Amino acid sequence: MAVSSLNNKSLIVHGPILEYILEENAYPKEHEQLKELREITVKKYEKKSVMNVPVDEAQFLSMLLKIMNAKKTMEIGVFTGYSLLATALALPDDGQITAIDLDIEAYETGLPFIQKAGVEHKINFIQSDAFVVLNDLINGEEKSSFDFIFVDAQKEDNMKFHEKVMELVKMGGIIAYDNTLWLGSVAYKQHEYEKHSKMPESVWRNRDYVIRFNSFLASNPQIESSLLSIGDGLTLCRRLY
Ligand code: SAH
Ligand code: CA
Repeated sequence: MAVSSLNNKSLIVHGPILEYILEENAYPKEHEQLKELREITVKKYEKKSVMNVPVDEAQFLSMLLKIMNAKKTMEIGVFTGYSLLATALALPDDGQITAIDLDIEAYETGLPFIQKAGVEHKINFIQSDAFVVLNDLINGEEKSSFDFIFVDAQKEDNMKFHEKVMELVKMGGIIAYDNTLWLGSVAYKQHEYEKHSKMPESVWRNRDYVIRFNSFLASNPQIESSLLSIGDGLTLCRRLY
């Protein structure tokens, strides 16, 4: 059963196809506590609840983490913890996630479901501005030690985040940037986009950051990257050196 509204006007994946993926593949196998966490987020945060990754993307990330045998990961931008719980469920019992967000109230909204799922021991939640934590980790003994880093905070900070997380992810490790298609807007001129969908001016402004960051990643020799049209766009970057 769908617990969040399907986006039939998606400009990223054709509406009926997205609906098919969610209804026939993703929702039927959504973990019980992920479903509960999603539902409470929709109830409490209404429209803001779209900040949680969609179910199909969470399932992709979960499979990726298992294929990689990831053990030590980081999440920058947790909100109520949908992607965090999906990650914690995918890691082995001795896996460790450093999870950072300024907003502890949102984290505590999802925490009961993380506890109920029995995976809280894998999570080290730090209430802080992510840059403070990243600098501490770099100055500590944590350089080149993370298998996987999920970056999902303010999009205009991605360029600065990249510089830091490249020091923390190990060689061959993965950095994943979320929302790199920015509701599909990156591919359209504003007037063309508005024929399909309305986007508030404030959101439209962020599009320039996303476009610039995407082209930076695409031409960066230090990584191999792949932009996936899943969710709101997910770019995987593998550290080469
Ligand atoms: N990854 C989550 C959604 C995160 S939403 C999921 O898919 O379920 C983005 C979050 O980033 C918000 O909760 C916001 O508080 C946090 N955030 C934004 N800028 C930040 C910063 N500089 N440091 C830490 N957290 C930040
Ligand atoms: Ca996101």
